[in-house]
Amino acid sequence: MRIAVPSKGRLREPAIQLLHDAGLGPETPGDRALAFPCRHAPVEALLVRADDVPEYVQDGVVDCGITGLDIVRERDADVQELLLLGFGGCSLEAAVQAESPVQSLEELRGARVATSFPRLATEFLPAPIELVDVHGSVELAPRLGLADAIVDLVSSGSTLRTNGLRSIARLLESEAVLIGPPEPQADATQLAGVFRSVVDGRNARYLMLNAPEDSIDAIRALVPGSRAPSVLPLAEPGMVAVHSLVPAADIWRLLPELEAAGASSILLVPVERMLG
Ligand code: AMP
Repeated sequence: MRIAVPSKGRLREPAIQLLHDAGLGPETPGDRALAFPCRHAPVEALLVRADDVPEYVQDGVVDCGITGLDIVRERDADVQELLLLGFGGCSLEAAVQAESPVQSLEELRGARVATSFPRLATEFLPAPIELVDVHGSVELAPRLGLADAIVDLVSSGSTLRTNGLRSIARLLESEAVLIGPPEPQADATQLAGVFRSVVDGRNARYLMLNAPEDSIDAIRALVPGSRAPSVLPLAEPGMVAVHSLVPAADIWRLLPELEAAGASSILLVPVERMLG
């Protein structure tokens, strides 16, 4: 089967890393490679521009592809979003010059809007707007007097600030996504399942700790998100080991609370895959 992977830009390396973590054994592509095989699976990866991935998938040139959700929605291609991949996070935002009186999207009616996302800008902004179609350095357009506002991708917001712009609305949350044709073949669906197990695993940690038997209820209350934890007897009387799956994002909060509840010998282990 064939999968389209971004040939450059910020999605390229994490996309190839996902093939690696999924156990496909991708051959390391050279800078100029157009395609590369995988050692452990009958999968060939085609390196194409992230912008072109929806087209390749729609035309059936590849069985599935990885690109940005923003690109998929802007292209409005006849494809199916199979799985959000958890990297390449950013948002499509409308912004104006910091000193502009404009506070809401509604006030952009009739405005000149610079963007390389004309379809999404038209969908989310109040009609009518005058589109100024620019590619690259969109943030300069207001300062040059070319536009009253911009619609562009933002991650940290520092590019906006550096260019004297202020966000007034978040139009779309984006991240990398696996797409397939409207009716994907069985192997594309199967690959989506393998990727899902990796993405879910990255969001989880396996927690192991020891605790006095009488603190079990307090500890269970702290890890309510997980399924029933395993509670195992220890050789030391009155002590048990607790094993549980916890969300990676909660760890910073959870560890001191567990210690306060009586947990000791706390171990946190990465999860390679999560299924079922
Ligand atoms: P690139 O090829 O590096 O321009 O990446 C394009 C894609 O990366 C975009 O379509 C987004 O899906 C994603 N991305 C993530 N963060 C950002 C960001 N701060 N600015 C632009 N694109 C981003």
